[in-house]
Amino acid sequence: MSKRLLFVFIVIGALAGLGYYLYRSFRPSIGRTSNLMEWFRNPQAHPDWALQASVRCAPEAPFIIPTDGFIGYLWDDTFKIGHRHQGIDIFGGTGVGVTPVVAAYPGYLTRLPDWKSSVIVRVPEDPLQPGRQIWLYYTHMADEDGSSYISEKFPSGTFDKYVAAGTLLGYQGDYSGDPNNPVGVHLHFSIVLDNGDGHFRNEQEIRNTLDPSPYLGLPLNARRSDGGVVVCEK
Ligand SMILES: [Zn+2]
Repeated sequence: MSKRLLFVFIVIGALAGLGYYLYRSFRPSIGRTSNLMEWFRNPQAHPDWALQASVRCAPEAPFIIPTDGFIGYLWDDTFKIGHRHQGIDIFGGTGVGVTPVVAAYPGYLTRLPDWKSSVIVRVPEDPLQPGRQIWLYYTHMADEDGSSYISEKFPSGTFDKYVAAGTLLGYQGDYSGDPNNPVGVHLHFSIVLDNGDGHFRNEQEIRNTLDPSPYLGLPLNARRSDGGVVVCEK
């Protein structure tokens, strides 16, 4: 085989490998994006796609559903190369400041002084792995300019305040940090690991978060998803 031919084969092989990698990474997210576009267009046409807040989806699931809406994106979905989604996104199908967000599990709520749209709840004992502390993070509870929809009971600077499961935390919003580029109205919910020192780890990294599937009793892992709409069996 000539060197030139060998080179051509190597390039074709590399491109095929890259194509397969991109296909594997993005295919499930693309399917969910098309469902989400349909949900944005006409949520009333798909009441069966929506979860209800405060419902427990499986008897063994420790958490209740934290808000109403359609689960648009799962844990470990990929939106851009190298990024893995650290939580789930539940889209209420309403405008901003309308759809309530409630605590999925009891714990101790903190809102850092500069947090406009987020709270985090410390759970001293992971119900599925006793002996470790975990944190439940709720975000996008502000409008695109950063006006907060978090409940007045939890002003900026709130530290370690007890909340029962089902406590109203705030309302879904579309705050992204960039007023020119708001997100669709939703709640982002994630389970964050403790650093072992009593503080939550960086939520932006998926390795610092847990697959929420067993906690909510739903198939929420993008890698294991069949691409279908995730609903709560009654
Ligand atoms: Zn998200």
